[in-house]
Amino acid sequence: MIKITEVLRKKGLKVTPQRIAIYAMLSNTKSHPSAEEIYKALMPTNPTISLATVYKTLDIFKTTGLVHELSVGNGRSNYDANVLVHPHIVCTKCGKIYDFEIQGLNSLRNQVANQTDFIVESEQLTFYGTCPDCQKN
Ligand SMILES: [Zn+2]
Ligand SMILES: [Zn+2]
Repeated sequence: MIKITEVLRKKGLKVTPQRIAIYAMLSNTKSHPSAEEIYKALMPTNPTISLATVYKTLDIFKTTGLVHELSVGNGRSNYDANVLVHPHIVCTKCGKIYDFEIQGLNSLRNQVANQTDFIVESEQLTFYGTCPDCQKN
């Protein structure tokens, strides 16, 4: 169990109940929620939280490297507390975003760097398809 207070302090962030709630929610889910989804999930237990606070907090978390912002082409940002590089697969029917493991990501990054002479700073690898649940319907 990660001590969220310590995680926030280590990043030099002021610890507030709302920051703790947002980070706790994100680190306990694999669903890659949007800001609205985080807001809706926290509202019942944090009645004073506002959508603006959620956005602002996510921005701070992003800048300090606590969360990753994903753009998978659904017109909004989704957030991931797993900041280790990993690919995603998105269901084009229900919109769910899943993590998976892949071998050779470093080699892929090296190939990109070699071919383009870029210093590669980040990458997003996203696949699209129909998830097992949607295949049943
Ligand atoms: Zn689906
Ligand atoms: Zn992820």
